[in-house]
Amino acid sequence: MNVESVLRMNPGHEPYSYARNSTHQRNVLFKTMPIVKERVSALYRKAIFPKYFALADLGCASGPNSLLAISWIIEAISGLCSQTGRSLPEVLVFLNDLPGNDFKTVLSSLPSFYENLKEKNRVEINCYVSAMPGSFYGRLFPSRSLHFVHSSYSVHWLSQVPELPEQNKGSIYMASTSPSSVFQAYIKQFQKDFTNLLSSRAEEIVPGGEMVLILIGRSIPDPTSKDCCLLFWWLSRSLVEMADQGLVEAADIDSFNLPFYTPYKHEVRDVVEEEGSFTINHLETFVVNWDPFCHEDDESYVFDKLKSGRNVADCIRSVTEPILRSHFGEGLMMDDLFERHARLVGEHLSVEKTKHFNIAVSMTRK
Ligand code: SAH
Repeated sequence: MNVESVLRMNPGHEPYSYARNSTHQRNVLFKTMPIVKERVSALYRKAIFPKYFALADLGCASGPNSLLAISWIIEAISGLCSQTGRSLPEVLVFLNDLPGNDFKTVLSSLPSFYENLKEKNRVEINCYVSAMPGSFYGRLFPSRSLHFVHSSYSVHWLSQVPELPEQNKGSIYMASTSPSSVFQAYIKQFQKDFTNLLSSRAEEIVPGGEMVLILIGRSIPDPTSKDCCLLFWWLSRSLVEMADQGLVEAADIDSFNLPFYTPYKHEVRDVVEEEGSFTINHLETFVVNWDPFCHEDDESYVFDKLKSGRNVADCIRSVTEPILRSHFGEGLMMDDLFERHARLVGEHLSVEKTKHFNIAVSMTRK
């Protein structure tokens, strides 16, 4: 599988598009906004007042989330400038994703983004947004050209499916049933990829510049932990159900594995320390409900397993449909697959309210 050419989120604004089904990722962004704003102030505390402020979002996808995060960063810059009486820098924004990403949908929302920016900050901000297609596991930007790098829910995607010495039968990701060689292969790929990401950014970020990365992880070192294995377990089970009914080839399931990795926080820390170009400021973990519309603090909320199952299935579909199609072919009946997935997830959630375990790491270029 050539990940760079097949990995993408569902484009446009159709019912299963990423743009319409990324509320979970948006909830995650809201949780990490304080860290992002704090690191912008940290930059200013270090007396880095660039004439122009260059920032990049890695893995912007096609929904509104990326520009939302960018708007918070710009608000933070604008707030700090007005507090200290400095003039606003010009802001250069690079939205990065793989070349097959639906950049058109993000870029077409730029006029309203510029309009909102003006309204919210009540000053004219010279902000220039452009797309930067390419893999964040290699070089994307000129040397020492960036002040701030942000990335949410992208770095858990690997550059390739790890080479597995043994087949991962009946599962499309690491599962409690996977042989230990599968876990070994996954972690090795993560270490290699994450090192490449850090060393590429190390060239591109100015000394003292900041990077905040948010990714899905797991809460304990054991890779057979639920946090890690449950994520795609019900999708694997849905495919296996279809194979049992002759609707999917079982061999196609055995030969398919997602280029994805959910690290333990020390695995993230160890790679940063080993690579050596960055100092970690914060390494925080937090959980967010699988069902993005389940708000426990809302007293009027009533659990409905069908609805919750569907909410989760819609989100997973918007993220995995193109890569599933590239492997299983046009013959795979997506509506059928995600009906099953919604049912299995709904049943699971009625027994156990599961949450995604997330890692937010902020670091400074030495
Ligand atoms: N940041 C957005 C989107 C997350 S979806 C949000 O919070 O909603 C993850 C995105 O990362 C996808 O669009 C995917 O194409 C992109 N991605 C995955 N691997 C990548 C790579 N190596 N280089 C650039 N983008 C990548």
